[in-house]
Amino acid sequence: MKMIPLGTNGYFGSFGRQTACYAIPYKSILIVLDAGSGLFRFAESAGKKLLSEAREIHLFLSHYHLDHTFGFYAAFELFEKKKVTVYAKAGRQVFSEFVEMEHFPIDYEKKYSNFEWKAVGEGWKNLKNYRFKVRKQNHRGEVSLGFRLEFVNGKNMAYITDGEPTRESIVFVKGVDLLLHEHEPLGEKEAKDLKLEEMIYDGHVTTEGASLIAKEAGVKKLALVHHNPFLNEASLKKELKKAKAIFKESHLAMDLEEIEF
Ligand SMILES: [Zn+2]
Ligand SMILES: [Zn+2]
Repeated sequence: MKMIPLGTNGYFGSFGRQTACYAIPYKSILIVLDAGSGLFRFAESAGKKLLSEAREIHLFLSHYHLDHTFGFYAAFELFEKKKVTVYAKAGRQVFSEFVEMEHFPIDYEKKYSNFEWKAVGEGWKNLKNYRFKVRKQNHRGEVSLGFRLEFVNGKNMAYITDGEPTRESIVFVKGVDLLLHEHEPLGEKEAKDLKLEEMIYDGHVTTEGASLIAKEAGVKKLALVHHNPFLNEASLKKELKKAKAIFKESHLAMDLEEIEF
């Protein structure tokens, strides 16, 4: 299987990288993880090709911060002819509140008639050809969702972003073929001798934390995502070096560079 990163940044777009959005084509379904500005790439050729091969879209939202939801500004147009199911913390909250505040000049009820909103709680949910598990994470005192997807062909992957490094997270992603995990540079703190729980910076898991989780969970491949927008590619490669020192199969996910799993 393959995962196509459409936006690999956190916070805001920079250096040619859009914010959180990842596509996984699976049979006639296009799985989309988060709806950051990377979702606008569905207007570009790589995105159009993915859409042309899909009959329905399953969109998973980790939480509602704008770097994960700004794509909704254009989602109704880009996904116009598709059956879209959105799996998130709450039903339609993500969008209806913006519309009420008149920030999004969109006829919400009419334009979103092809969208179905499903609130998901913790635990497994079985769909036709795959199943997924949800874990609630603490994100600066708010809740974000971690997702683990298991496909009938035996492949599996997990998407963990905007949370804290915990032992529970290691159990949750145990042994997956691909772990998409956020990473944040540690700042001034010295990485040495830190416990996993301390590998956190500004409400996010550090590069060291992400690679330690990957290692202890015995995953096959780690793809670092949610890049800090102030870091250029050379700085990100330094982060990758730190990750590889802890977990050899660490990779940097970059916009539009496919990752096999
Ligand atoms: Zn974020
Ligand atoms: Zn966030």
